[in-house]
Amino acid sequence: MPADPDQFITVRCQFCDEMNQLEQFSNGHQAPCLNCAKPILLDRPLNVSQDDFDDTVLASSIPVLVDFYADWCAPCKMVAPLVDELAREHSGRMLVVKIDTDHAAKIAEQYSIRSIPTLVLFKEGEEIDRSMGFEPERVRILAEEAVA
Ligand SMILES: [Zn+2]
Repeated sequence: MPADPDQFITVRCQFCDEMNQLEQFSNGHQAPCLNCAKPILLDRPLNVSQDDFDDTVLASSIPVLVDFYADWCAPCKMVAPLVDELAREHSGRMLVVKIDTDHAAKIAEQYSIRSIPTLVLFKEGEEIDRSMGFEPERVRILAEEAVA
């Protein structure tokens, strides 16, 4: 598949914390960080903080699946392997990010996250659909909607 010139995402490097704007990150491509040159791995969920939310989630040119979770939440741990799998499967076509609701109260409030896990699909900065609680089948549907 040819790279889409209009594709871009802004993500924080997992190694040095520098924000990177990436283009042409089509399937499987692991871009080097512009600051530390280590690979930015897009085939797994990225941790996003409240500060990064607008740039990484809302401004993304590809769909973003956001996993609102907390460390103490057992159903969140149950859904995590599926979230990992979807990130791998749709690498380059859908961004998968995790937001720790204990450290992102403002975002959780803004999107009315009342129970976790809640997974929200965003396209072009708008919420398209969501799944609440442990609903693996619903989560797969969200991913299908994302890349449809
Ligand atoms: Zn880096």
